[in-house]
Amino acid sequence: MTNYNSPCFSCGGIPTITLDIAPNDQDKDYFSLKMTSTNYLTNVILKRTYGGSSLELQINHTTNQFSTNDFTRFLTYLQDNTIEINSHCQVCDTIFVSDILQFDLQKRIICPTKINWECITLDNKNAEYRVETNERETNITISHIVNQVFSAKYFYHLSPLPRSKFKNKQELIEKIETYLLFS
Ligand SMILES: [Zn+2]
Repeated sequence: MTNYNSPCFSCGGIPTITLDIAPNDQDKDYFSLKMTSTNYLTNVILKRTYGGSSLELQINHTTNQFSTNDFTRFLTYLQDNTIEINSHCQVCDTIFVSDILQFDLQKRIICPTKINWECITLDNKNAEYRVETNERETNITISHIVNQVFSAKYFYHLSPLPRSKFKNKQELIEKIETYLLFS
């Protein structure tokens, strides 16, 4: 939770952080809510009510404590929706999605979460790697564009290569290249 606005692992850009809301009602579509952050606080409007008061959530991202302007409506909101944090770098298209957020309603804190799915884009010389990892496995796509012709190779079901295992981008690239050499 503390690294909401840390620079992109791959390109150093500043990712856009949203709350992804999936309504439990299957007929409704999933959507993303913009989060506005200061040094300590992140504010999200969960439900915009025109002519009434909107439902807002405020998160202190140093302590993970949250507050809302209407606790009763917030409880209903939690029953109706599942919420995840999404970090998307618009520069290189690297994406991280958290696990479903769990709210401790007694202590009013958001329980620690981890990354559930990530897709990292890495530029390397004349190739681009897309490294997609979930809890169980990693899939890698290597694409080349030569003379404006796109070609791609796919490697599926590799053992997980999450970003958290690597100090930096270069270390991950080296790991991928070793991997591919022996696969
Ligand atoms: Zn990036």
